[in-house]
Amino acid sequence: MNKRNLSNFYKAVLTVIGVVCIGWALFYLPKPAYSSGYLFLLAFAVLISPHLSLILPRSKFSVSFSDALIFIAFLVYGGEAAIIAASLEMLANCYFIKRKGNMVFGRYMILTNTFIASISTAITYFVWLQVANLADIQIVSPDTRQLIASLGILALTHFVVSTFLGAVFQILKENTLNLWETWKKDYFLSSMTQIVGAGLAGLIYKLINYGDVFTAGIALIAIGIIYLNYRQSIGEINDAVGNFEKAERDKSEVERVRRREAENHSAQLTVSLEKEERANDALRKSEKDFQHAALHDSLTGLANRKQLGDILRSLIEEYKQDPSANFQVLFLDIRRFKDINDSLGHSIGDKVLVIAAKRFVRMLSPADTVARIGGDEFAIVLRDLATVGKAQKVARRIYQSITQPFSLSGNKISIDVNIGVAPCDVEYETPEDILRDADIAMHYAKEKNDGLAVFTKELRSRFLERVRYEMDLRHAIDRGELSMHYQPIVSLIEGRLIGFEALLRWHHSEFGMIPPNKFIPIAEQSGLIQPITVWILRETTRQLAAWQRISSEYENLMVSVNISGKHLSNDDLIEDVETALEQSKLSPDTLKLEITESSAMENAEHTINMLHKLKQVGVRLSIDDFGTGYSSLSYLHRLPFDTLKIDRSFVSRVGENGENSEILQTIISLAKNLKMRVIAEGIETHVQLAVLQNLGCDYGQGYLLAKPKSRDETEKLLYKRPNLLPFGSGLGFESPEAAHVEENLPVF
Ligand code: C2E
Ligand code: MG
Ligand code: MG
Repeated sequence: MNKRNLSNFYKAVLTVIGVVCIGWALFYLPKPAYSSGYLFLLAFAVLISPHLSLILPRSKFSVSFSDALIFIAFLVYGGEAAIIAASLEMLANCYFIKRKGNMVFGRYMILTNTFIASISTAITYFVWLQVANLADIQIVSPDTRQLIASLGILALTHFVVSTFLGAVFQILKENTLNLWETWKKDYFLSSMTQIVGAGLAGLIYKLINYGDVFTAGIALIAIGIIYLNYRQSIGEINDAVGNFEKAERDKSEVERVRRREAENHSAQLTVSLEKEERANDALRKSEKDFQHAALHDSLTGLANRKQLGDILRSLIEEYKQDPSANFQVLFLDIRRFKDINDSLGHSIGDKVLVIAAKRFVRMLSPADTVARIGGDEFAIVLRDLATVGKAQKVARRIYQSITQPFSLSGNKISIDVNIGVAPCDVEYETPEDILRDADIAMHYAKEKNDGLAVFTKELRSRFLERVRYEMDLRHAIDRGELSMHYQPIVSLIEGRLIGFEALLRWHHSEFGMIPPNKFIPIAEQSGLIQPITVWILRETTRQLAAWQRISSEYENLMVSVNISGKHLSNDDLIEDVETALEQSKLSPDTLKLEITESSAMENAEHTINMLHKLKQVGVRLSIDDFGTGYSSLSYLHRLPFDTLKIDRSFVSRVGENGENSEILQTIISLAKNLKMRVIAEGIETHVQLAVLQNLGCDYGQGYLLAKPKSRDETEKLLYKRPNLLPFGSGLGFESPEAAHVEENLPVF
């Protein structure tokens, strides 16, 4: 049974017993009770007594006249009358308290209290009957001791029974088993009311029965005054207690509000602390990111130039202290990376760089460092390698790994690198020093097309010389240091001067004559070749136009100008040529452009395109140094060249007895089949000339015929009008094949 059911059950039991008690009391109500006195007492109990009751401060009890009334009813009208009076008084008192709002009653509680009052009074009566019988106590006796005994028994019994029943009810309601504690805490205090009530009843009883009216009056006035005083004090105490309790409540409310505010505040503080912590975290992270970004390359995640510099600086210091702490620096440059970017797009280019970076990292030990220091430039610091030889081995391994082809977005890509190695040296002071030398070695590797080169001091002086040349070449035109030499080109059949090859000369103010093989590559790499060629075109076309005017037999004199592959790849060439022709008024078909086989084949499709445009301008075209450039035959027949110039190396191979002429024969036949005229360059001996004449080579150029000459010397030659074939040559060597083809071919 749960606590609610239990308390309901208890209420039901009390109701039944209470009803029985009240019924029994009504049934056996003694005769004297049927009187106006008893009615007055009941009326007093119902109407007046509740108004006189006082709630004791901090208790559930009220001091009323109920106990006194019950005991008086008991003494005057008997136990049954007391039961009725007690029940009615309790009922009236409860309603009165409820109406005033001093206490809240639960369901059926007023009735339950009423029945408790009836039961406890009935039990009191029953106990008193037994005790009075045993102790022979008379209830109606003038003996005050007997009266005190009677009232004592009544008060004690009533107190015990009523409080017991109340306490039982409370423990059932509150679901506690501690009856004693409950009674002591909530019910013991009410013993006072019993004692006061019993005393009052005894006093009133004595006054009514044995006192005179005057004494009774004085006593009642005294009681009234005491009561009023008591009531006032109780009221004041109650007010004070009420005020105190209110103040306490207010205080605790204020505290509660404060506590809540404090809690809110601390919650807000926690939130703002958390926010601050998060902001700090973000700050720390961004600081870290910032530091990382400052030292790393964003694309590949490798160290950047700054970090590489820091590492190299400390390694240089370390090496100075301890020469055994050696290291090597590799400088790597991806060959023709620009082509990948241009042809496949920058995003593929980026992916290629990332793949290259990964491959580099994979090949190295954790102590080594890989850095990206430029677009397609990387540097590697190798540690703890005793010799340069070992560094070279590592570099070779890296080279082999990096050149493995891979596929990317459906494209098969293979990359190639140039690697320069610079070993540590005490002379290095800064990271830039060692990186510069590794870079020099890398450039040398690029030049000799070998993939790998180790730095030497010679390379540095070469490099410095190169830098110097490049600087000086920029001002060479303005300073008048450049000039043209002209090498005659001769008809091998009749010895007639056909034209010249214009060859550039640089007379350096400090170093004297610098050969073209030295400065032309520098001009090409630095991009200076284009403005220089523009100058050459202007110079030579102007010059040739002047020479053509010397005599009518020179009207068709030609000049060949060498065009660099770099210039050929640039569309500006067309305009440059047109401008030169316009300014010089030279007939376009007397200007020939020489393009080496290797640069023509570098980007054959583009060359075909460019050559066709040049043909539209009207100029002639010649393929230079033929035989050295690995021509693809399929392209060769699509290239609109007019002449083919056999490379000097094939001519120089022809020995004293005319041996080693097979390749010459092959090239000449090929040229004829492709409907091109053939020029042989580098003819130095009579045998070479004779072999070439015999094979049907159309034209020749070489020291045997004429060396390249300055402008003035060339002009003198033109006025002399010599036959440039050495005496006796051509006789007996004339090729019937050559004579036959001659008719069908265009003039030189
Ligand atoms: P190239 O176009 O094949 O020029 C022919 C070279 O052979 C010239 O050398 C010429 O002096 C040399 N030569 C001619 N006959 C003989 C001979 O019998 N024996 C030997 N050993 N050499 C002979 P040069 O003037 O030193 O020019 C070298 C190269 O420099 C040229 O080869 C050409 O590729 C380049 N070059 C010269 N001038 C120019 C120019 O104005 N523009 C460009 N782009 N390149 C030029
Ligand atoms: Mg040439
Ligand atoms: Mg040549």
